[in-house]
Amino acid sequence: MEKLHAIDREYRHLERTIAALQWDQETYLPPEGVEERAEQLALLEGIAHRRLTEPETGKLLAEAGSSAENPRGDASLPALERDFLRVMRRRYDRAVKLPPDFVTASARAEGLSQAAWAAARQNNDFAAFLPHLRTMIGIARAKAEYWGFGSGSSTRYDGLLDIYEPGMGEAEIGVLFAVLRNRLAALLKKIQGCTPPDTSFLKQSFPIEQQAAFNQKLMDYIGFNRRRGRLDTSAHPFTITLGSDDIRITTRYFPHNLLSGLFSVIHESGHALYEMGFPPELRGACLADGASMAIHESQSRFWENVIGRSRPFWDGLFPLLQNFFPEQFAGVSAGHWYRAVNEVKPSLIRVDADEVSYSLHVILRFELEQQLIAGALEPEELPAAWREKTKEYLGIEIDASSPRSDADGVLQDIHWSMGSFGYFPSYVLGNLYGLQFTRKLRQDIPAFDNLIAAGNFGQIHTWLKDTIYRWGCRLEPAELLQKVTGEPLRVEPFLEYIEGKYGELYH
Ligand code: ZN
Repeated sequence: MEKLHAIDREYRHLERTIAALQWDQETYLPPEGVEERAEQLALLEGIAHRRLTEPETGKLLAEAGSSAENPRGDASLPALERDFLRVMRRRYDRAVKLPPDFVTASARAEGLSQAAWAAARQNNDFAAFLPHLRTMIGIARAKAEYWGFGSGSSTRYDGLLDIYEPGMGEAEIGVLFAVLRNRLAALLKKIQGCTPPDTSFLKQSFPIEQQAAFNQKLMDYIGFNRRRGRLDTSAHPFTITLGSDDIRITTRYFPHNLLSGLFSVIHESGHALYEMGFPPELRGACLADGASMAIHESQSRFWENVIGRSRPFWDGLFPLLQNFFPEQFAGVSAGHWYRAVNEVKPSLIRVDADEVSYSLHVILRFELEQQLIAGALEPEELPAAWREKTKEYLGIEIDASSPRSDADGVLQDIHWSMGSFGYFPSYVLGNLYGLQFTRKLRQDIPAFDNLIAAGNFGQIHTWLKDTIYRWGCRLEPAELLQKVTGEPLRVEPFLEYIEGKYGELYH
């Protein structure tokens, strides 16, 4: 066991060194440094992969009684060690099935693809990204095949989904999403027949330095420990862990859009709080990780939406925001602000979407991914398919000849450029998990709303730590949900929250 822990620690150090270079690539790397950085990352990914897949790892796992059928190993071991074995076994089996040359080549292609995507997005040039996209789809399909998906009843896409959400396949997700799509589309239609809130005061200039200064205060306010993390800017907001005490988040700023930068900071802080909250006994080990991407999203979206877009939160914080922007918010009340930041208005950009239309953005991507990975849609057909679904689900017509048609459409997200097919559903599954957790949290802490209004998050942090963070990835997502709420995954708590909140907002 000691030898296995040593391998795990070394692998983790390599992972985090890679993360440091990736973080740098997305924040400060000068454009011409990209190609050599891709080489550096490919080299390190190769070394990390070899370290994990050495025959010694397999031998040690077997000696501890861990196998594909019995990943948790010898029943006489302590529970913590058995959970460690389960996670190591999963990682090892995943990694050992990928040939080292394939891993190195994929990492190199990924670096180049990301750089090409960033340029293509800037220039609204899908054609420039197309060859990279084709490569990334090929890599994703090959990966699933190496893992043994795509034969029998499982699909290649199931194999990709399983990376992010263990135990959840496209059929199961499809059932949940079909219910969501219908109920949310119906609600959206109703809302569009109502009087929209006054948002005129948001259409002003908000100097970027002021936005950045407010966001530092905001991070302190919700309990982000800036001695263990930091905030920078990047094209696409993200959270990345460079060490147990070094969790970094990014946002982006637009001078005429205050909400984008601000809510990204709350969202990414939610991810960071989870990463910062793993207990000491998991520190530095593979168990100090989120239970899944969707569970991670349940945490970020809990802070962003359930807390960050609630009335009590802004009753407490709006006066501070007003101090930062006294002219822009002269005569604006917390109530005006609350209604404005919850305006339901379908738009093109997923990360800026309201809570009602957000899931529709994700369902659109899920359906396109299914087709791309199955080979039912060719990559060059993607922009047209994107426009068609955008019209169908969000009611927005994209003019193919407009100067940002693809930049604000099919090129808006980084995921496909990194080969992260199967990731998008996590956002919506995260909403579902999050609202099921919230329901339990409200039962356990009846003063929830009052605490939020008072800016007093101590009890909420403690609850999250004791109930969710403490497990790291010791439990599978479904086990964690069962343990916390006693239920399987359901759409109702999320839909009740959405229909309740927006029913009230729109009378
Ligand atoms: Zn997120």
